[in-house]
Amino acid sequence: MSLEVPFIDLAWENRALLPEIREAFERVFASNAFVLGPEVEALEAELAKRLNAPSVLGCSSGTDAELIALMALGIGPGDEVITTPFTFVSTATCIVRVGASPVFVDIEPNGFHIDASKITQVIGPRTRAIIAVHLYGQPADIDALLEISQRFQIHLLEDAAQSILANTHRGMTGTIGTAGWISFYPTKNLGAFGDAGLVITRDPDLAKTMKMIRNHGAIERYEHLHVGGNFRMDALQAAVLRVKLRKLEEWTAKRRKLASLYDTFFAELGIDPERFRPPPRLRETHVYHQYVVRSTERDALRLFLAERGIATDIHYPKPLHLQPCFARLGHKPLDFPEAERASREVLALPIHPSLSEAQIERVVSAIADFYRG
Ligand SMILES: *Cc1c(COP(=O)(O)O)cnc(C)c1O
Repeated sequence: MSLEVPFIDLAWENRALLPEIREAFERVFASNAFVLGPEVEALEAELAKRLNAPSVLGCSSGTDAELIALMALGIGPGDEVITTPFTFVSTATCIVRVGASPVFVDIEPNGFHIDASKITQVIGPRTRAIIAVHLYGQPADIDALLEISQRFQIHLLEDAAQSILANTHRGMTGTIGTAGWISFYPTKNLGAFGDAGLVITRDPDLAKTMKMIRNHGAIERYEHLHVGGNFRMDALQAAVLRVKLRKLEEWTAKRRKLASLYDTFFAELGIDPERFRPPPRLRETHVYHQYVVRSTERDALRLFLAERGIATDIHYPKPLHLQPCFARLGHKPLDFPEAERASREVLALPIHPSLSEAQIERVVSAIADFYRG
């Protein structure tokens, strides 16, 4: 008998909400306002309140939200932006797309975030910003990063694509630095029915520029103050996001509950930490977009679990400094050994809120079998 454990179940997210989503879609059809408009404005107002951020703008994706932030700050040729090589590719490709250069700094040993203690050694006269990534839904070391950005008068930007509702004593991730962004890609904690994102800032002047850049740099119709883009959110995406947003708190609590179950079970198993390590316990702040363990036999473990109907994933199998698209930066293996080690060891276990406690137990007992065998 095999109890399948899927990695994610998007149908489950939508099932109970479909009548409300249909109703919201009917509202958009009737309005014939399909791009930006009242539905997007209503979502922005609800998210601004929920995130306690004065300015949030709905846009076409998390990637485009980052582009808006970099363009609005005037970051471009000759500028350097510091970030982590252990993240989704768009964190760094956006830097290149505005003409600036990414400068990678390795991640913490045993952690997944940029190592703040290594940042100051790469800051120079061209450095304009640090992009922190709240990877897996866990806040990066925000105090250390803020301190450095203030001391060197550079911007702290936050890639909060995976960390909606992850709170810190300085506020929600994405709302702390000069600017931040969230992704509503369908598999994220709050997912649209397609691509969508949010760009966030506390600076009212920057918000005005961002708003223009989102819409072809227009200050009014056919008057273009900046070179912008088409980075607008569709009303249908806003409509579905407004319905799902009402569930986000509950879904996040469920993710934390499942994470806590994993933590407890793994602590009881007591597998040799040289071979297998669960993530650090950070339930108050972590929103568990992913629950990521480290294993020195990661690929064998993944196959073993797959054979037992348990789906897992790897975020990310190749660090950015070794990606062909960044070859011109001239990096080589061992430049960022912690990021490279993480790429070999990380395994994301199922943590979707649709899962039952029995399914989590099933994952843990299969992992126990692997290490016993
Ligand atoms: C998903 C993601 C993005 C990109 O968001 P899109 O909405 O897919 O463009 C950026 N950074 C990180 C860390 C992500 O996980």
